[in-house]
Parts: sequence; structure tokens; C-alpha cells
Amino acid sequence: MLSTPQNSAPAAPSSPGDEALTSGLAALRQRLDAAARSAGRDVRSITLLAVSKGQPASRLESALALGLTQFGENYLEEALGKISALAGTAAEWHFIGRLQGNKTRPVAEHFSWVHGVDRERIARRLSEQRSARAAPLNVCVQVNIAGEASKSGVSAAEALPLLHAIRPLPRLRLRGLMCMLPFDLPATEQHRHFAALRGLLEKANAQGLGLDTLSMGMSDDLEAAVAEGASIVRIGTALFGPRPQ
Ligand SMILES: *Cc1c(COP(=O)(O)O)cnc(C)c1O
Repeated sequence: MLSTPQNSAPAAPSSPGDEALTSGLAALRQRLDAAARSAGRDVRSITLLAVSKGQPASRLESALALGLTQFGENYLEEALGKISALAGTAAEWHFIGRLQGNKTRPVAEHFSWVHGVDRERIARRLSEQRSARAAPLNVCVQVNIAGEASKSGVSAAEALPLLHAIRPLPRLRLRGLMCMLPFDLPATEQHRHFAALRGLLEKANAQGLGLDTLSMGMSDDLEAAVAEGASIVRIGTALFGPRPQ
């Protein structure tokens, strides 16, 4: 039969965009494999979070067809459109942007993870707004590990008290720490900051917090992040290419 079943999605067109994604993913997998190997780590212990901000839903469908299921979005309105376009697929959504106090509800309702919690008030709202029917919302605390004046995230000194405040919130599952480094740091500095985040996680776990996630490493610094123990790398441009304007 040559007819197309009515309820199946149209085949993904073999557009240049899909080829770029296929080759971007292959190159990225090679980088991750090499980084894991030289760190003596199993690459399967590292989750690839596809940062899909700025990408249309059609490209996320291509990514799903290539086996990617974890998507990171920064901009709430943009993300909600894609979440409804891809409803019923295996996609899981990670909010990685700056979260405003009045925007927590849609995040609590539609995402599986929030990577950038840096205030107790935001965490409380997320817990209150997370449906009892859904799995607890996974959260990471964002640490401004490089001490940049312009960046969000708590200081290393503030991280432990915030973690202890979030831990008992009933509808959250506290997973770990997240950081974002400035661009163009020398590799030695990348290693130093990522190692500091890992040290903070170890300190938290010595206090019984039971954290299992280091969300660190982007397109330009994933090798250093993997070497220092990243469990989730958040990759946009090295996977999808430059973001459309
Ligand atoms: C955009 C973004 C990324 C991905 O950055 P790339 O350099 O494109 O890999 C990762 N994490 C956060 C928080 C981002 O905003």
C-alpha cells in the first residue's frame, strides 16, 4: 500500500537543516566520547541536554527522530509553544533561563526540570504550584561560581543554606548544582571553576543532601566540564548550529 496512515506524522523532510543536525550530533558525540574517555568516565553517565532555544519545533522533531529527548529552553513563551506542538512525544523539558517570580506557574506545570533556582521564594512557589499528580519537579541551584558581577546565581557561600532550605519542599526533588561560566576563559580557569562546583556538591553531600547532578558545560567548555564530573551538559550551538536571530 502506498497510502500514508492518517494519524502518522509526516516524514521529516531531508532538509539541509536536518543534515546539519545529524552531523552536529555526530561531531558532538565524538567530543563527548573523547572527553569521557580521557577522564576515565562512562559517556553514558553524562546526559546530553539539547538547548533548543531559538530553534523551531520542526528542528526539535528532527532531534527527537535522532533519539534526543531532553530539551533546554530559556524563554517561557517560546518554550510553551514548542511544548504544546510536541505534546505526546518523548520530549522532556528543562527550564534553563532566569525565572521571574510571577512566571513560576507555567514552569511548575509544564517542565520536568528547572536548572537555575537561585532564590528560596522561587523554589517555594514552584513546590506550591507543582501538581500532586505530576512527578516532583527536579531542581538544581544555580551558583555564580566564577563570581561574575552580571550573572545570576547564588555565591558559593550562599549555596549550602539555600540547598538546605529547598530540600524539604514537598513537590520538588533537589538534584544538584548548575553553573554557567563566562565565555573565553582559558581552559585552566574552566577546570578550576567546574572543580569548585563539584567540591561544593561533595560538601553538600557530606551534609546529607544526597545530590546527584552537576549541570555544567556548554558548547565551548564541555571538555573541561566532563573532566570535572558534569552529569548534564547543556549544548546549543555545537548541536543545532548558530541560533536563528
Ligand atoms: C544558551 C544556553 C546554553 C547553551 O549554550 P551554547 O553555547 O549554545 O551551547 C546552555 N545553558 C544555558 C543556561 C544557556 O542559556
